[in-house]
Amino acid sequence: MVVPGFIDCHTHFIQMGLDSLTIELSHSKTLDEALSLLKEGAKRVAESEWVIGTGWKESGWTGGRFITRADLDIACPKNPAVAHRVCGHLSSVNTRAISLLGLDVKTPDVDVDASGRLTGVLTESAVSIAREATRPDRAKKDKGLSLAIGKAHSLGVTSIHDNGDSSDFETYRRAEKAGRLGVRVWFNTPADALESRLKIPLDTGIGSEWLKAGGLKIFCDGALGARTAALSEPFSDDPKNKGMLVHDRKELDEIVADASNADIQLAIHAIGDRGIDVAIGSIKAALEKNPRKDHRHRIEHLELPSVQHLALMRKLGMVASMQPNFIGEWGGTDGMYVSRLGERRASRNNPFREVLQANVRLVFGSDCMPFSPLYGIHSAVNAPHPAQKISPTDAISAYTRDAAFASFEENSKGTISLGKHADFVVLSGDPFEKPKEIGSLRVLRTIVGGEVVFETSEERKQRRQASFSASLGA
Ligand SMILES: [Zn+2]
Repeated sequence: MVVPGFIDCHTHFIQMGLDSLTIELSHSKTLDEALSLLKEGAKRVAESEWVIGTGWKESGWTGGRFITRADLDIACPKNPAVAHRVCGHLSSVNTRAISLLGLDVKTPDVDVDASGRLTGVLTESAVSIAREATRPDRAKKDKGLSLAIGKAHSLGVTSIHDNGDSSDFETYRRAEKAGRLGVRVWFNTPADALESRLKIPLDTGIGSEWLKAGGLKIFCDGALGARTAALSEPFSDDPKNKGMLVHDRKELDEIVADASNADIQLAIHAIGDRGIDVAIGSIKAALEKNPRKDHRHRIEHLELPSVQHLALMRKLGMVASMQPNFIGEWGGTDGMYVSRLGERRASRNNPFREVLQANVRLVFGSDCMPFSPLYGIHSAVNAPHPAQKISPTDAISAYTRDAAFASFEENSKGTISLGKHADFVVLSGDPFEKPKEIGSLRVLRTIVGGEVVFETSEERKQRRQASFSASLGA
């Protein structure tokens, strides 16, 4: 079965490659297992060097608590250590890291215990401080990108929409100039790049067939896992907490209006219903003052939209950029969503079907948690709740044809048609025939711009044999 190359509409692509160079904690089944991986990892680096762990999630662990400073002090006593939670919104650090980073009780977004001591758990802006201090150099980023490209090809991904930091653009440009980019990139810049984009001006869509300036990525709220998504009712497992908004409404309105007026697409991260309300409200206000015809403004994640939110998105012509793999990771009867939201809200969380019923353009991505379109498509097609479950055709469209729309590229990619880029994927079976088995399909071959960039060894053998027989025939 040949399908169009998958377009992952929400990635942190270079970061994903860099993460593979750090200590992978996502498969740890217990807290102890995660800590022993960090302990082993610490042995492989020099004493003053950072130990960096990524991808842990406590939701499957007994006790289900976050990694703390005390844990990391025992696992990595001689090194500064940071362990990033899978969501990217929460990280844990040890005592050496705390002093290196200069964190204290006055630093925003650090967790403090009853005795007034830092627990080592950081969220949002404090996570950025840790990331900044452990920032990779040029060569390491090039390496990260090339690892990410290899992974993309092996999973059938031929285009990505990225949400990296501004400096990632240079890494992409370097790869493009050297002719080794290999995936087509729609690069969303962070909100703090708005001023320079307005000055240049760098509108949405400027660039080449490989690398284009995308939208402006703005954070409206946090995430459910870290209990920072903005909800209208408190978290079910934290009754006093309704999450947080990153910007006050006036501030958000200004950024949104400035970008929208300058023909820059908006990609607003909004997860909780209260966050979504604010994000749509800001876009509505900007468009009422200064209507745009074909803006394709997007909400990223859109996990808890109400029916009214979806109707408004339809009316305003907005795009729903969602991650079906989240259901595979955190849905189900004992998943993180039920603990954070309770049964009622969890059954309407990530409501792909309702999005389609409201006639809102639905596009899929992975947020690299984990990165794999087939897993995402499987999760949407086999989702546990009726509000979530969609057909294989709709799920694949959201990862191909409709995904191309989200980057204004429906004329050059997303379907197999004459005149479009020759970006294809060969699958080991038919996803329409046995929807329950999509997750076990494999990518056999990936073709970008007519060139084979990935194939399994059996495929390679078969292709060689075929061309050998053809040459004998000639
Ligand atoms: Zn993201």
